[in-house]
Amino acid sequence: MSKIIKLKDKFLGGGNPVLIQSMLNVPLTDTDNAIRQAVALEEAGCEVVRASIPTKEAAMKIPEIISRITIPFVADIHFDHRLAILSAEKGVDKVRINPGNIGGKDRVKEVVKSLKDHGIPARIGVNAGSLEKDLLEKYGRPTAEAMVESAERHIDMFREFDFENIAVSLKSSDTKMTIDANRLFAEKFDYPIHLGVTEAGFGESAMIKSAVGIGTLLIDGIGDTVRVSLTGSPIPEVDAAKEILKACGKLNEGIQIISCPTCARCKTDTLSIVKEIKELTKHIKTPLSVAVMGCFVNGPGEASQADVGIACGREQGKLFEKGVITRTVRKDDYTKVLLERIMEMTGGK
Ligand code: SF4
Repeated sequence: MSKIIKLKDKFLGGGNPVLIQSMLNVPLTDTDNAIRQAVALEEAGCEVVRASIPTKEAAMKIPEIISRITIPFVADIHFDHRLAILSAEKGVDKVRINPGNIGGKDRVKEVVKSLKDHGIPARIGVNAGSLEKDLLEKYGRPTAEAMVESAERHIDMFREFDFENIAVSLKSSDTKMTIDANRLFAEKFDYPIHLGVTEAGFGESAMIKSAVGIGTLLIDGIGDTVRVSLTGSPIPEVDAAKEILKACGKLNEGIQIISCPTCARCKTDTLSIVKEIKELTKHIKTPLSVAVMGCFVNGPGEASQADVGIACGREQGKLFEKGVITRTVRKDDYTKVLLERIMEMTGGK
């Protein structure tokens, strides 16, 4: 079990629920749009939001953003340690630094002093793409071992300044390297771990990379917060993170849809039903598994673990609960009847 750190009113690590993170891709200096995006992320279920602070101007906007959201806000700092200190002064709940590019020990010492003064934690963000030169020379290329050694080096530096209020991330765009590095790290240390496959890309391949990387580690019991990194709007990152958490048994919340791939037995457009049910139930938090199956010869049996489901026939289908058929439904009413039952079972919440 990892140590616990506090992010505003949330706890990270120590077996607490895995937190979903995302990151603004609008600069804070474009303040109205940044606020809009931060609020949209919170509404989508994001539990921690991070933003890049590349300039003093961006840091000065932090209080405005923070005042519009309730979730913890993290400053992402590269190169300039003074921006980490300024962000702490402006009220961020955590600072993410890549010690490999923040400068020497003296600068880290100044950042640590500021973090202590404001009682906030840091994330040491090790990235395979920005490892220290000497480690690249030692290992010949970015490797899982080099990433862990980089993390270790920076943890030692923080410890030297008597600072243990830290989380760590070890990210690579190589999924296997991300998994290996985090496994290795988790064997040696008990700091909370932020999981992510960095620069995963976009669309399906990015989702798959993230699901494999993050999912494998979560199933190993490694990881306390996740960020799915997708090119484009950050909002889909939140949904993707939720799906990964649900698939790993780390989030028992909301409607989980089970649907068959369909085969020659299927005479119904089940995809439209699935999409409609998903859209109309996305606000529901009560955990419920809902099946949409393409035939009633095999549907109720194949989805017998579902709390409720519809097995669609050509002219009529069957509503079933835990594999037991409860009523016959006319073809035009599949979505309506299933939705009504979901609302009854969850109270619409
Ligand atoms: S539930 Fe029916 S339609 Fe769906 S895959 Fe199984 S046999 Fe085919």
